Amino acid sequence: RGFCGSRGQPAPLPVPQKIVATWEAISLGRQPVPEYFNFAHDVLDVWSRLEEAGHRPPNPAFWWVNGTGAEVKWSFEELGKQSRKAANVLGGACGLQPGDRMMLVLPRIPEWWLVSVACMRTGAVMIPGVTQLTEKDLKYRLQASRAKSIITSDSIAPRVDAISAECPSLQTKLLVSESSRPGWLNFRELLREASTEHNCVRTKSQDPLAIYFTSGTTGAPKMVEHSQSSYGLGFVASGRRWVALTESDIFWNTTDTGWVKAAWTLFSAWPNGSCIFVHELPQVDAKVILNTLSTFPITTLCCVPTIFRLLVQEDLTRYQFQSLRHCLTGGEALNPDVREKWKRQTGVELYEGYGQSETVVICANPKGMKIKSGSMGKASPPYDVQIVDDEGNVLPPGEEGNVAVRIRPTRPFCFFNCYLDNPEKTAASEQGDFYITGDRARMDKDGYFWFMGRNDDVINSSSYRIGPVEVESALAEHPAVLESAVVSSPDAIRGEVVKAFVVLTPAYSSHDPEALTRELQEHVKSVTAPYKYPRKVAFVSELPKTVSGKIQRSKLRSQEWGK
Ligand code: ATP
Ligand code: MG
Repeated sequence: RGFCGSRGQPAPLPVPQKIVATWEAISLGRQPVPEYFNFAHDVLDVWSRLEEAGHRPPNPAFWWVNGTGAEVKWSFEELGKQSRKAANVLGGACGLQPGDRMMLVLPRIPEWWLVSVACMRTGAVMIPGVTQLTEKDLKYRLQASRAKSIITSDSIAPRVDAISAECPSLQTKLLVSESSRPGWLNFRELLREASTEHNCVRTKSQDPLAIYFTSGTTGAPKMVEHSQSSYGLGFVASGRRWVALTESDIFWNTTDTGWVKAAWTLFSAWPNGSCIFVHELPQVDAKVILNTLSTFPITTLCCVPTIFRLLVQEDLTRYQFQSLRHCLTGGEALNPDVREKWKRQTGVELYEGYGQSETVVICANPKGMKIKSGSMGKASPPYDVQIVDDEGNVLPPGEEGNVAVRIRPTRPFCFFNCYLDNPEKTAASEQGDFYITGDRARMDKDGYFWFMGRNDDVINSSSYRIGPVEVESALAEHPAVLESAVVSSPDAIRGEVVKAFVVLTPAYSSHDPEALTRELQEHVKSVTAPYKYPRKVAFVSELPKTVSGKIQRSKLRSQEWGK
């Protein structure tokens, strides 16, 4: 295998690393994207052959548990076999042709990963959705996307039945269940009978792979279309550098299957030959997460900040994490206090990344890079990330502005195609040479980015601009605060003032609210610039959140302004 170099030549890379290096070079924009690319054929089937030839540790490629004893472990070969069967179900009973769209609304069960890969093999475009979608949400998504097929489970099927008559494009409904349901095809039965022989379609790199509905944190969810290569190759480098994955790693991302982070995991882990670990997690429960980390040899963990906020409330010293060596977070701002508590108690650093459904990782703290607490890291190659003003002019370090990614003269390949059927939104997201993320931040002279908030969340009080995250992070340092959301509130003199909605930790839940309000105000004044302190404080039992766990400040703001 040529591990040893000779006569001063560098040692040639072992086969798997050579392949990963090629994918990584494309991911970093150092090599052109091939004209044809199909993740199942060009990545998964290659790992299957490497595995067979003994070039990979005996790690599973996929490892699923449900917490009550059931377990599924697939090698790349088994994943290949099962997904070819699933592709025959999609192409056969469902009649899906390349380019047809399929909605996947499944809990964290192995079928989600199978059907995702089967979509790649058949050229069907996958549209993941979260299981909390209501009838109205499902109708909106099925109508907007004109999906021809949907796959879901028992608990969601009645919601689909209630609206499917109003979705004329929907032709087949697939159920993942042990029982049958009128009007539905039974996926597990069909899978059992399906052939393992399947010819993967030849997709062009630019062909569509997936449509993601954004979280809808700020309005109606938009349809973000990705190509075969934008996600399929776009995550290799960040998977290697930020997630720090190799073929011996076992990566657990607790995310719901309907959110982009499930795809981020898939497209980071499998090109790097790593194992994807999944716990069904019917409810997100801190103790279940901590016990799982203690029981299984998980090396790498990714959770949204909301979950880390819960985990650090537990006595972490009571747990022994067998193999954990690398932790990540993203999707929302990480409060420095949460990072410090996690690190202090587990000894493992927490590396934050920042990105959107529209992109791959925009900014990150790659493993080993010096972390500046509170910063979301540096621009992630191949993106050229800048802070720009409202005309698209690049601003100097230290100035607040729009987080923007350069798309001219060359649009990065690891980027969404467009907001589907919405040229106005697509056009509105561009300014001069840049794509405008809709987030506000500063970049310091060392190239680190400091998130202020979503454009609409930034508070303007007596001409002071205040980012909610900074105030929330200051509040998080007080032992009374489990979590908080900071928004603007109307004020006759100042126009708007800072208001904090605070969820208390159990130890403080019966404290006198007035005294606690004063204490929290003094605390914020003492740890950050005093003008940022919340002039209004409300104690609440929970914060409005998207199903992916993000705080919906816009809901609280509308409430405040009586909209
Ligand atoms: P919509 O566009 O419909 O409002 P959304 O923006 O919440 O939904 P996503 O694409 O899932 O949907 O989320 C991307 C957004 O999440 C980013 O634009 C940013 O506001 C936020 N985000 C992601 N990572 C971070 C981070 N590390 N720090 C702060 N915010 C983050
Ligand atoms: Mg967005």
